[in-house]
This record gives sequence, C-alpha cells and structure tokens, in this order.
Amino acid sequence: LKKIMADVSKKDDCIFCKIVNGGLKSDIVRTGKNFIAVKDISPFAEGHTLILPKQHYSTMLDIPNGLGGEMLQFVKEVVSDLTKKNLGTGFNIISNNFKSAGQVVMHAHIHVIPRKDGDGIRYFSKD
Ligand code: 5GP
Ligand code: ZN
Repeated sequence: LKKIMADVSKKDDCIFCKIVNGGLKSDIVRTGKNFIAVKDISPFAEGHTLILPKQHYSTMLDIPNGLGGEMLQFVKEVVSDLTKKNLGTGFNIISNNFKSAGQVVMHAHIHVIPRKDGDGIRYFSKD
C-alpha cells in the first residue's frame, strides 16, 4: 500500500508532473480525463507527441489496467489529429520502460511519432 501511494502521488521532482500541474511550460495539444498529450521538446519528427497520465506512475507496469482502454482511445485521437494535419501517413507508438530500455523520465508515457515514406527515422539505434 505504501508503494502504491508513493507511485500515484504527484512527485515534486518529476518534470512530467510539473507539466501536468502547469508548473512547467509545455505545448499541450490534447487534454482528456486522465491523460494529456504534449509535443516532445526534442522531436524525432514534426508532431512527435507524448501521452502522459495525469497521475504519476513510474512505468507502464504501474498504470492500472482500467486506464488501458482510455489510454488507447487517447492515442487514437492524437493520431487522428496528426493525420488531419498531414504530419504522417503512418505512426509509431513507443514506450521506454526502465533505464535499461532508455527511459529517462520516470513518469510513464507513450511516444506517438508520425511517419512518412522515406523519412529516414530509425528510432531503435545502438549508437
Ligand atoms: P524517454 O523517457 O521516453 O526515453 O524520453 C523522455 C522524452 O521526454 C524525450 O523524448 C524528451 O525529448 C522528452 N522531454 C524531456 N524533457 C521534456 C520537457 O521538459 N518537455 C517536453 N515536452 N518533453 C520533454
Ligand atoms: Zn510524474
């Protein structure tokens, strides 16, 4: 119970909690009941978007199953926005979980990266 309470509380030192709370400026492109979508500050492509749960969860493993459907629906809405803006004809949805997998911000999130034929993006690199 202690662990759960620590995970779901807002973390003062978490930059994504700060974005959710409005304490850190960001480009919010969509708001839902339990999620917000913001432009990535260092995008792989124009329209690269991060889906953030409003509550603090460290990784995807901490997100309650009950939020899964809403999260998928939210991803679809973001993709629809990007498609309407002609930012991609396809998309990648990617989530890095834990340090070994490249997670830098320990507030669970999903990347939505719009893609076009021949855009040259290679997300999984071993450099
Ligand atoms: P990950 O944890 O998935 O490896 O990477 C975190 C992502 O958050 C990176 O793509 C990075 O560019 C993005 N990011 C880091 N700091 C900020 C920030 O302050 N604002 C926004 N909008 N994105 C950020
Ligand atoms: Zn957080």
